[in-house]
Amino acid sequence: MKQATKALHAGYTKDAQKTMSVPIYMSTAFDFGSADFAASSFNLEQGTDNVYTRVGNPTNAILERRFAEVEGGSAGLAVASGMGAIFYSILNVVEAGDNIVVSNQLYGGTVTLFSQTLKKLGIESRFFDVHSPDESEALIDDKTRCIFFESISNPSIDVPNFEKLIEIADKHQILTIVDNTVATPILCQPLLFGADVVVHSASKYTTGQGTAIGGLIVERKNLSQKIKDNPRYPYFNEPEVSYHGLVFADSVVSPVLFTFRARMILLRDTGAVLSPFNAWLFIQGLETLSLRMKQHSTNALEVAQWLETQELVKKVNYPLLESDKSYLNAQKYLSKGASGLLSFEVENFDIAKKILDRVELFSIVANIGDSKSIINHSASTTHQQLSGEELKKAGVSEGLIRLSIGLEDSEDLIADLEKALG
Ligand SMILES: *Cc1c(COP(=O)(O)O)cnc(C)c1O
Repeated sequence: MKQATKALHAGYTKDAQKTMSVPIYMSTAFDFGSADFAASSFNLEQGTDNVYTRVGNPTNAILERRFAEVEGGSAGLAVASGMGAIFYSILNVVEAGDNIVVSNQLYGGTVTLFSQTLKKLGIESRFFDVHSPDESEALIDDKTRCIFFESISNPSIDVPNFEKLIEIADKHQILTIVDNTVATPILCQPLLFGADVVVHSASKYTTGQGTAIGGLIVERKNLSQKIKDNPRYPYFNEPEVSYHGLVFADSVVSPVLFTFRARMILLRDTGAVLSPFNAWLFIQGLETLSLRMKQHSTNALEVAQWLETQELVKKVNYPLLESDKSYLNAQKYLSKGASGLLSFEVENFDIAKKILDRVELFSIVANIGDSKSIINHSASTTHQQLSGEELKKAGVSEGLIRLSIGLEDSEDLIADLEKALG
């Protein structure tokens, strides 16, 4: 089946009521039926469905299976937010004393997680230049547990050379974890290029309507083979004290080691579970994701091309513009479109602020991926606390304006910008 079909049907078999809309199972817990079944469930002797919603819920399970199918992966795990998904994907493979090798162009929350919060837990983040993948190899040692990057970075809109990074990781038998939030599986499937794990903020394009916070982790097919007997990943290969010495790699219950362990250890013990109601909202959103991503991409390219013709605009960043630093990578990895995120530079802070105050269709919001278009001036908002030097390092000039192009008619968006620039 093709992606658009999977996004509508995968993972759901109609129940006795034959509901067309996936049911929302708002239930904290489930009846085991017998004492023996209850005991064996807690000892991981059988499936993890229908025990307690912190570690699994039937509505969440449909979202997990469907999202995994659309990504081309083998299994998924839904959690309470995109940051939760990123944190769990890392926590699943590290302990104090370990390090991770990460791109220098990442989402703001991810940067502070890696450089501050993980540091306090004794985990070191080593940054490489997103456009110099070879730098990552020099940072690897025997304590390195993953290479992490974004398929399209937010807010800097860079597209790295995935294959090079995956090749380096594979050579050292290290996992690659890719944040695929901005591209979504419709525009890019990193797992099919050989990435090991994909993480998502479902809060962005998945509903498309800015209604709910959520996150997903998806692992690729046959990832367990890379983890099994790999000395970098002892948690999967050594007896787990909290499950009576179970070795995850030998468990007969689940062959999908990465998501299984994240669920049974991390969700069990730290509990950032997704509400079944939010899972249902994401399922509704997935139904139209493929249509929407095509339109976001077409609209954004049209706006980017128009901005390039404007005298007041010094530079436009959009991966599918020939002038863009990511153009070659984008042609390869984003052949179906480059999503709705773009940015452009005007001369200075004052001109940028004036444009923000003059637009009418665009809302000034710290978010992306909504069906309604969004405008943002990084230097006065998300990056306000940074010094001039730090702004430069983050690739944020004083006149940088970021747009998340929505699903309005692109002629109306261009007319609105034309008025604001004029
Ligand atoms: C928004 C975002 C996140 C964080 O997701 P939340 O759902 O807000 O926690 C992570 N990565 C990227 C690329 C994002 O855009």
